[in-house]
Amino acid sequence: MPTIFHKIIRREIPAEIVFEDEHVIAFRDIAPQAPVHVLFVPKDTYATLDDVPADRPEIVGRLAVAAARYAREQGFAEDGYRIVMNCNGDGGQTVFQLHLHLLAGAPLGRFGV
Ligand code: 5GP
Repeated sequence: MPTIFHKIIRREIPAEIVFEDEHVIAFRDIAPQAPVHVLFVPKDTYATLDDVPADRPEIVGRLAVAAARYAREQGFAEDGYRIVMNCNGDGGQTVFQLHLHLLAGAPLGRFGV
């Protein structure tokens, strides 16, 4: 079933896209949890991290590498940042299309339950 992120990839709904290549699209989160909050989404669609096949680690790796490159290019890599992937209910996932959160721009609190 198409998610809101599919619609962003297809330009059916607007988003502030900050990066795109043939494999990955990145856009600002609509409800930012930090001064910088960008979502990195693979164009190969999987609902959750649990659905990524073991023989396709590049799906996840590309997201992390794209986020790290974005942090360097934007000049906050040295100050630091956090990347997060929520998986299923207890993980807090709300959009069931694989994505990675990049959070930065301020000291981030420790995470917990
Ligand atoms: P999750 O909770 O699944 O890990 O993260 C989903 C994220 O998508 C949330 O942080 C939420 O704010 C963001 N989000 C939900 N709908 C939209 C939307 O229509 N546009 C954008 N840019 N972000 C969205």
